[in-house]
Parts: sequence; C-alpha cells; structure tokens
Amino acid sequence: MRRAKQKKSLKTQLKRMVVGPVLCVGLVVLFISVSALYKSMTDETRDGLLNLSHQLKEYCNIMGEGEYSLEDGVLLKGGVPFGKDNKIVDQVHEISGIDATIFFEGKRRLTTIRNEDGSRAVGTEAAKKVQKKVLIEGEDYFSSHVLVNGESYYGYYTPLQNPDGEIVGMVFVGKARSTLMKTLFSLSITICLVVLLVSAIMLKKSLHYAGSVTAALNQTKEFLERAARGEIGETLNDELLAREDELGEMGRFALILQEEVTEMVGTDSLTGLYNRRSFNEVLANALEECRKHDRIFTVAIGDIDGFKKINDTFGHMAGDQVLRELAWLFKSHMEKKGFVARWGGEEFLFLYENVDKDGAIRYLDELMQSIRAQRIHYHGQVIPVRMTLGVTECRKVDNLDDIVSRADRRLYCGKSEGKDRIICKGA
Ligand code: GH3
Ligand code: MG
Ligand code: MG
Repeated sequence: MRRAKQKKSLKTQLKRMVVGPVLCVGLVVLFISVSALYKSMTDETRDGLLNLSHQLKEYCNIMGEGEYSLEDGVLLKGGVPFGKDNKIVDQVHEISGIDATIFFEGKRRLTTIRNEDGSRAVGTEAAKKVQKKVLIEGEDYFSSHVLVNGESYYGYYTPLQNPDGEIVGMVFVGKARSTLMKTLFSLSITICLVVLLVSAIMLKKSLHYAGSVTAALNQTKEFLERAARGEIGETLNDELLAREDELGEMGRFALILQEEVTEMVGTDSLTGLYNRRSFNEVLANALEECRKHDRIFTVAIGDIDGFKKINDTFGHMAGDQVLRELAWLFKSHMEKKGFVARWGGEEFLFLYENVDKDGAIRYLDELMQSIRAQRIHYHGQVIPVRMTLGVTECRKVDNLDDIVSRADRRLYCGKSEGKDRIICKGA
C-alpha cells in the first residue's frame, strides 16, 4: 500500500537549508584557521631556531682562535674552555626559553636538556640520522619531531666547524612541542569561540529571515485559502504589505485580486449595480445599525412595468439597454441617500439610510418623475418606461426576510392596482 506523502513545511525545509551549510562553513573555517595557524607557528619556530642556532654557533666560534678540542671532558675553542657550568647554553635558555646543546664528535658536551634524575644529559648521542645529515653531509637539519630524552622537540641542528672547515660537532636548539601545542590549543579555542559566535549570529539572522519569509508566505496562503472558501472580507497585515520584496508584492497582488473578485461577485455585470449578494450584506449591516443605535431606514422594491412587452416589442437588447439606462438613473438618484441594487430580472431594491417612510416617498416621487421623463432611445425609437414600487420603513424589531417580503407584497399590490405607482401601506 502506498503511503501518503507527508507534507514538508517550508519552515522546516528552510531551516535545514540554513543550519546545514552554516555548520559546514563553520567547521571548514575552523579547520582552515587551525591548519594555517599550525603551519605559521611551525614556520615561525623553524626560522627562530635557525637564527638562534647560527647565533650560538657564531658565539662558539669566537670563544677563542683555533680549533675545537676536548680536554678532561671540557670543550675548548683555540684552547679557551667553554667552562663546565654550561653557562653558554643556560643563557640561551634563560633568554629565550629554548633548550640548547653543543655536540662535539657526536656527543652532547654542553646542554640544557636534563635526564629524569635532573642531571644534564651530557655524553649522550644524537640520533644516527641527524649525525649523518649534519656531521657527515655538513647540512643543517630541522625536524618538528625530534625526540630527546623522551621529550618531543621542534629541533634545529647546524654543523660546528674548525677554521679549516672540518666538521667537529654541531649546535642544537629546540623548543618543546608541548609548549607550542599549549599555545596552539589556546589559540584554537579562541578561534573556535569566534567561529561559534559568528556561526550563531549567522544562524540567528538566517533563521529569523527564514521565519519572516515563511510567516509572510503562510499569511498569504491562509488569505488565499479563505478567499477560495468565499471569505473575501479578510485583509493582510500591514507589515506584510509594507515589505519591499517579492513577498510584499505578492501580498499586494493578492489584495488587488481580492478587490477584483469582490467586485465580480458583488456586482451585477449588466448594470454595474450591487447584486443581490452584496445588497443582502448592506441590508444586514443597516439592520444591525438600526438595532444597535435605534436608527430607521426605508427599503423599496421597484419592478419595471410590462418589461416582457418591451423585450417582445423592441428585442432583448433593447430590454438590456433599458436596464442599463435605468441603473444609471437610479445610481445618480441614490447618491448620498443610500444604496441601490439589481435584485434580479427587472427588479431593483433601494435602501434609504436614516430616512423614514415619508422621506423615502418624497424621494421616490422624484424618481418616478425622472423615470417617466426618461427618454430611452433604441434604433431611432423611444422606449417608454414605467415602474411600480413597494415601500416599507424598517424598525429594529424587523428581520431581513420581513423587510423584503413586506416591500414585495406592497409592490404586487401596486401591480394589481394598476401599476406605475408607489404603495407604502398594507400587509
Ligand atoms: P409586470 O408589469 O407585471 O411586472 O410584467 P413584466 O412583463 O414586467 O414581468 P414579467 O415577470 O412577466 O416579465 C419579466 C421579463 O423580464 C421576463 C424576462 O425575460 C425579462 N428579463 C429578465 N431579465 C432580463 C435581462 O437581463 N434582460 C432582458 N432584456 N430581459 C430580462
Ligand atoms: Mg418582475
Ligand atoms: Mg415587471
């Protein structure tokens, strides 16, 4: 059995689209930053060690004039002893915090590196690989993983030569990896926090934007949904309508659409007057006002006399022309007095606001005069038109059906009494 596809909300989809990439970008930025930091620290350390080792070598070379030698375990340069107290390497360590060693014939003679028991690691040898590179091949050697006495170093070795160029030893300077890693770790934590903060701000902003987009879309969707159900009196909120993007535009178009639809469903297409649907709303509102504030209003139903005969004599198009011209007349007559609607066929409804029956009859008398005086021309012929009206004043005890049916009964009374008249009394 096929399972119904679950509806995915736009908000969830947008959230996924935002959260994933922001986290990925954050992780990539973090990785690149830490890698770059590690590389630059390694390069910087290497350059620093290179300089220091060469300085130390120079310092050794100027200890005395002549060759390096070893007497009773004491290193000499041109007969000048380096001293047993390792002063030269200790000074390097004091100033820079960097360990230093001076090798003679492959063995440590002066060093800041100590054994586990605290004694200096004098007499121990450098790794074979280092000895080969520096002592035999005469090259500098750098490694970020030099293991000395169980401790890992960034180490730099450079050969130590007699004045004739003979390699007799080497100089080593090294920085413990643990020190460097501590710095790298604390800097990485700072970078991590910055990346987290920036990602959180980006996420917050993106989610807020995604939220506002979905809220605007949902509002427009609900508005259209209600319109589709026939609830066309609703409106959209000002915040959405004030948006300057496509969503705001969509909202404004939805309102225009609503206005068009409202006009289409509430207007009679032939005459442009209100139709029965919208007149019912007008009537209901008037009745509510009447009940709430004890206001009066008067309703009249007018029916064109002998309209069938007009159609039969002059044709259906002529009948339409009569309806249109009378509608214009009614519209201008009702201006500032109330509302007029085409109730159906050749029947019209008039609503005089805040006007009692006598007032309405005065107005309707004027209207009757205008109808009688109206010259409706059709293909060179003048179509005479007359109308019968049933009138009723409305009070707060009335209901909608009462009003229309009372006016209707009076209208038919007028028809049976001979037409072309206004009837305002009776059942
Ligand atoms: P009475 O004086 O008793 O009112 O008679 P009447 O002929 O006016 O009334 P009746 O109900 O016999 O005929 C109304 C006619 O109006 C019938 C219908 O074809 C015509 N009609 C209804 N709507 C329209 C329309 O939109 N255009 C035209 N041309 N005729 C219409
Ligand atoms: Mg009729
Ligand atoms: Mg009629």
